[in-house]
Amino acid sequence: MSAKKRIAILPGDGIGREVIPQAVAVMQATGAAVEITEFDWSAERYLKDGVTVPPDGFAMLGRDFDAILVGAFGDPRVKTNIHAKEILLGMRFKMDLYANVRPVRLMDASLCPLKGIEPKDIDFVVVRENTEGVYTDAGGVFKQGTADEVAIQEDINTRKGVERIIRYAFEYCERHKKQDGSPRRRVLMCDKSNAMTHAGGLWQRVFKEVGQEYPQFTTEHLYVDALCMQMVRDPRAFDVIVTNNMFGDIITDLAAGMQGGLGMAASGNIHPGKTSMFEPVHGSAPPIAGKDIANPFGAILTAAMMLNHLGLASEAEKIEAAVLEAVRQKRTTQDIGGALGTREAGEWIVNFVRRG
Ligand code: ATP
Repeated sequence: MSAKKRIAILPGDGIGREVIPQAVAVMQATGAAVEITEFDWSAERYLKDGVTVPPDGFAMLGRDFDAILVGAFGDPRVKTNIHAKEILLGMRFKMDLYANVRPVRLMDASLCPLKGIEPKDIDFVVVRENTEGVYTDAGGVFKQGTADEVAIQEDINTRKGVERIIRYAFEYCERHKKQDGSPRRRVLMCDKSNAMTHAGGLWQRVFKEVGQEYPQFTTEHLYVDALCMQMVRDPRAFDVIVTNNMFGDIITDLAAGMQGGLGMAASGNIHPGKTSMFEPVHGSAPPIAGKDIANPFGAILTAAMMLNHLGLASEAEKIEAAVLEAVRQKRTTQDIGGALGTREAGEWIVNFVRRG
């Protein structure tokens, strides 16, 4: 077996096809020992031959690759968005990538819309449950199209699912430091157990139980509405946040807004010990696709996160340092105040990494 890490690349649709080539070029500029294979799973492919995921596709990814780097899926020509659901949700569910990890870090004060916030004030991580909740598509409609229509969307929370994501959050706290090198110390569980008593009750009980196994960390709790207010009032309050699938989706968009917008946010879809998938938080962004204006830094930081996960920490550090410098020098795309195109911004990072 080759010592190189085998990485599957799925640029996908829209701006995914613009930002992922930049992320790949940057990764290669670090000299990381990686072997790259690109796949064309996308709207384009679906429109051509009706295939979303080729037979054996997920099994092949799990068997033949160490990690997967994804762009984004979504194309106005595929109204049902079926390919995005089958590829992206399929990967998360069928490969059981249960931990969606979204680091939130402010690189420069100018990127944050909040007053008086400095980079050191925003450095937290959201650990989102990724395989259950309201995303399982359980439920249905009855008497559709009539005045008596009923729509039911089930919120699935299993003991196993809740326990493993909460445990992951504590383990994450143990294994990861803050950007300034100080240890992480607090795990906060966010739910809506005052209104959703059954699901929330399970989360509350499990959080308490698992928390007792990690007495070195402080455990905290906030209802999701209170957490949103707190995030805007004082983001310094957060360290590691663990929550369900839907609340995680929502609060990480809010959090992305505090770090410079969707173009800056990275994420990993992880199952410890299995092939995991990494993707920028943003979607395919059809309104800006094909214009060379999409910010590639979210995808580039995602590549760094993937390298870190694969044990290539020094390569990951080089990438993060380069992005930090680009932000400081405003060598960025327009969404965060620069004047570069997607390709130029990516090339700047490539050159910086090569020089360093
Ligand atoms: P999805 O449903 O897949 O999350 P969406 O269309 O709701 O996708 P995004 O595609 O993530 O949302 O983008 C919403 C908007 O945010 C875009 O139209 C664009 O204005 C902005 N945006 C997202 N990503 C970027 C980026 N990388 N660079 C610049 N702007 C971005």
